[in-house]
Amino acid sequence: MSKKIYLNGEIVPKEEARVSVLDHGYLYGDGIFEGIRAYNGRVFKLDEHIDRLYKSAKTIMLDIPHTKDEIKEIILETIRANNLKDAYIRLVISRGEGDLGLDPRKCPDPTVVIIASEISLYDNQLYEKGLSVVTVPTRRNGPEMVNPRVKSLNYLNNIMARIEANMQDAPEAIILNSQGYVAECTGDNVFIIEGNNLVTPPKFAGILEGIKRQVALNIGEQLGLNVKEELFTRYDLFNADEAFLTGTAAEVIPVVEVDKRQIGNGKPGKFTKEIIERFREIARSSGTEIYSN
Ligand code: PMP
Repeated sequence: MSKKIYLNGEIVPKEEARVSVLDHGYLYGDGIFEGIRAYNGRVFKLDEHIDRLYKSAKTIMLDIPHTKDEIKEIILETIRANNLKDAYIRLVISRGEGDLGLDPRKCPDPTVVIIASEISLYDNQLYEKGLSVVTVPTRRNGPEMVNPRVKSLNYLNNIMARIEANMQDAPEAIILNSQGYVAECTGDNVFIIEGNNLVTPPKFAGILEGIKRQVALNIGEQLGLNVKEELFTRYDLFNADEAFLTGTAAEVIPVVEVDKRQIGNGKPGKFTKEIIERFREIARSSGTEIYSN
């Protein structure tokens, strides 16, 4: 069965899902997106993803031509059309077709695309062994630039960091902000654990406020950890007892080495393992039902 894609009001076969080369999403990276997961017939944290989408849209002054409830229903319909229970869903809203100038006023109709695909999970071994990651020369865009809290179609900052990680054969890049504090990874948020403290950079550090970041903070609280959103440096990372990343694709994944410094004893830490386990329980047992009616 050919994959079905939602495009501007219709669910069409993949081959027919075509967008204009004059779309400002293509010409200028002018648009926003969300990456969402479904587990076992349920969409995980759908409301949170849609709320973030609308905040991104408001910030870039893009009028989404649907209500939040309509967007949620279209997402569910697209997953059903592809007969999926476990899925990675990509929702993209670009400024739409315009002329060759930058002016968004020339783009009357945003382009709305939803792709629901099978998920290719990271190798299980990586969750047991943990990742060896590196810091990279590219600095994360600051909130005073295009704020990374906007999940925009302009990911070149992250792609530059990804290229630099590739050059060191690393699976992820830790990106520092312009002050040298740890910001985030190319597609994940960063956490350290020191003693009883669970620490992640604050929302103004130059990060996307990950939906899984919030899940990990909540789990940390349930575990009795002292949860903090605070700036920290590479020094804190090197000397942490434990470290891990969170993101829609990676979920919660341990970090055991940063720039050739071993973290803790070089194995995924006990709190990290507990957070991974609880995360999986929550993902399996909550979310918006796809096939309820
Ligand atoms: N930071 C960046 C730059 C991202 O693109 C993402 C999403 N892949 C994240 C963090 C994690 O966010 P979430 O938990 O919502 O997937």
